[in-house]
Amino acid sequence: MNVIHKVLAVKEAVRALQATGDSVGYVPTMGALHAGHQALFSAAAKQHPRWISSIFVNPLQFTSTTDLNTYPRPLEADLALLKQSGCALVYVPTAQDFYPTKPTLRLDFGPLGRGMEARARRGHFSGVGVVLARMFHILQPQLVYLGQKDWQQYLIVRQLIEDLDFPIEARAIATLRESDGLAYSSRNVHLSPPARRQAPLLYQGLCQAQQALQNGQSVRLVQKNTLTYWRTQTELKPEYLAIVDSFSLRPITSPAKHPYVSLCVAAHIEGVRLIDNVFLAQSPL
Ligand code: AMP
Repeated sequence: MNVIHKVLAVKEAVRALQATGDSVGYVPTMGALHAGHQALFSAAAKQHPRWISSIFVNPLQFTSTTDLNTYPRPLEADLALLKQSGCALVYVPTAQDFYPTKPTLRLDFGPLGRGMEARARRGHFSGVGVVLARMFHILQPQLVYLGQKDWQQYLIVRQLIEDLDFPIEARAIATLRESDGLAYSSRNVHLSPPARRQAPLLYQGLCQAQQALQNGQSVRLVQKNTLTYWRTQTELKPEYLAIVDSFSLRPITSPAKHPYVSLCVAAHIEGVRLIDNVFLAQSPL
């Protein structure tokens, strides 16, 4: 596996990969790799004889300096996992190399960039858009693999690709969970043992909400009951529970009228912010 830190060197190395004629798959990450990332690696490996990745904790997408500074960075273990997963090339730039001058560009994704994560983390998706547009120019992949766990981010990346006409396809891979239902996340390492025991109740609440909707309960009641469940029977402090059309992310009131519906949540536990989502009936993946 080729580990490259500098932009000129990585451009040269990807041109050599592209010259083989095979499509190149790309898995962008911020490191602190876990089994959830591995699901993306496996999907890329299945599709491409050569796939590439990047590890970059992108300062532009952080809205809290503490979150940025405490973001785990176990580089050696990450590189070992990528190598073991069959990655051909990993780009690991420093912030100075990647952004020789701090970008002034701000991206507005319209309605997709207004609710849910955008409301809680102002400027987050602009930062995601800028880093990925830059990565796409440098790495020129044919496919980019993203996780369902960050569903709004996946839709934002599709919008970026469409609006800027990148010749790239974005593919979302189903969320990988621990055996108790907690979605794998780089932030899970910050959970204390009691918080870790409570954290799966986030997914449990989502599943109860999904079941209640399938049984015909109204969206309003399901939302109220699920938020009450988290607030009164768990240590989780929900920030939002959005029941939305999976593609427009507009809140819905009649699930039966929408072929694809998502239930998306963000919650805090002991200062750790967790997000998760499930699809109501049909999977849009
Ligand atoms: P991150 O390193 O947190 O930026 O995540 C890199 C990619 O991995 C993103 O596309 C995430 O959506 C995806 N991802 C994170 N956690 C999971 C998970 N539990 N299952 C599947 N994909 C995930």
